[in-house]
Amino acid sequence: MVPVGDYLWLIIGIAVLVIGGLAGLVTTRTRSRKPIERPVSTDVVAPGEPGVGEDAETPRDTPTRTVEETALPTLEKPESAAGRLVRLRQRLASSQGPLGRGLLSLLSRDVVDEDTWEEVEDLLLTADVGVAPTQELVERLRTRVKVEGKSSASVRDILREELVTLVDPTLDRSLDVERREGKPAVVLMVGVNGTGKTTTVGKLARVLVAEDKQVVLGAADTFRAAAAEQLATWGERVGVPAVRGPEGSDPASVAFEAVRTGVEQEADVVLVDTAGRLQNKAGLMDELGKVKRVVEKQAPVSEVLLVLDATTGQNGMMQARVFREVVDVSGIVLTKLDGSAKGGIVVAVQRELGVPVKLVGIGEGADDLAPFDPEAFVDALLGEDVAQAGE
Ligand code: GDP
Repeated sequence: MVPVGDYLWLIIGIAVLVIGGLAGLVTTRTRSRKPIERPVSTDVVAPGEPGVGEDAETPRDTPTRTVEETALPTLEKPESAAGRLVRLRQRLASSQGPLGRGLLSLLSRDVVDEDTWEEVEDLLLTADVGVAPTQELVERLRTRVKVEGKSSASVRDILREELVTLVDPTLDRSLDVERREGKPAVVLMVGVNGTGKTTTVGKLARVLVAEDKQVVLGAADTFRAAAAEQLATWGERVGVPAVRGPEGSDPASVAFEAVRTGVEQEADVVLVDTAGRLQNKAGLMDELGKVKRVVEKQAPVSEVLLVLDATTGQNGMMQARVFREVVDVSGIVLTKLDGSAKGGIVVAVQRELGVPVKLVGIGEGADDLAPFDPEAFVDALLGEDVAQAGE
C-alpha cells in the first residue's frame, strides 16, 4: 500500500513538470514571432553586386550592368487585344465622328441631288481619302442609292458596306511575329522622326508581352539623343531587355547586336527601332539597306513596318513614297489617329503603297496601339447605332 501522502507528492510533481513544459512551449512560440535578424541574402546576387562579407559598395572595376541584368521594378501587365479594340472604337468615334456623321446626314437628305454628291465628295477629300478612291466610292454610292432607295436604315447599311469595301477587309493584316527555323522574328520599325516610331516599338512590345512572347528591343535610332533611353524605359516597364549602343554609333551595329541577343536568348521577336533622317533619299537608302543586310546575317527580317503620322496628310503620303522606294514595306502603322479627323488616310496610303495598315496609334498612353480592324474602324466612323443597324 502506498500512503495517500505519497500520491499527493507524485501528483504535485507531475503537475510541476507539465506546467513547466507548457510554459517552455509558449515562450518558444512567442520568441519565434519576434522579427528575426536575417543575414544578408545570398540567394540572388546579381553579377557585380557585393556578396556577404564584401564591401557595401560595388567595386569600381566591376563592369557596368546591362539592362538585362538589372533588377526590374514591379512589371506592368499590358492590356489584351480585346480591350484595345473597345478603346479603338471609342477613340475613333470621337476623332473620326464628324466624317461619318457628315456623310450620313448628307445622304439622308430628302433630295440627294448633284450638289449633295459634290458635298459628299468634298467631305471625303477633306478627310484625306484621296481622289481616285473618293470618286470610286461616290460612284458606287450613287448607283446603290438609286437602285435600293434611301430609307434611313438602308442609307446607313449601304454606306457602311461601301466604306468597309473601300478600306478592304480582304487584306492580311496579321503581324508575322513567329519564330522560324529556330530564329526569332525580326521587325524593323521605319519612318520619319517624330511620327511615333520609338513609342510604337514600346507599345508593340507590350502587345507581344500580353501574348506571352519573349521580346528583345534594339535601339538603333542612335541619332536622336533620347531615343535609346526612351526605348529602354518602355522595355523596363514590361521586363523586356533593350540593346543599345553609344549615342551616334552605327545603327546597323546596334541592330546586329540586338538580333544576336535575340537569337542567343531564344526570343520570339526582336523589335528594331531605326533612325528616320529624311534629308536625302540616298542616305536613308544606305542606312536602312545596311541595317537590313546586317540583321539578315543573323535572322530573316519578317516585317518592315512604316510608321506614318495620320495628322500630316499629304506630307505623310510623300514620306510613304520615299520609304517604299528604299525598303520593302510589309505593313503600315498609322499613329495619332486620335488627334486627326482625317481617317481617310488609311485608304489613301494603302492604295499608294499596296500594303495594309496593320496597326493604329490611338493615343499617347502605353496601351494605345490597336490592331487595325476595318469593320470596327467604319463602325466607329459612323457611330454606335450604325454598328447596331449593320448587325
Ligand atoms: P519618333 O521620333 O518617330 O521615334 O517619335 P516618338 O516615338 O518619340 O513620338 C513622337 C511623339 O508622338 C511623342 O510625343 C508620342 O507620345 C507621340 N505619339 C506617338 N504615337 C501617338 C499616338 O498614337 N497618338 C498620339 N496622340 N500621340 C502619339
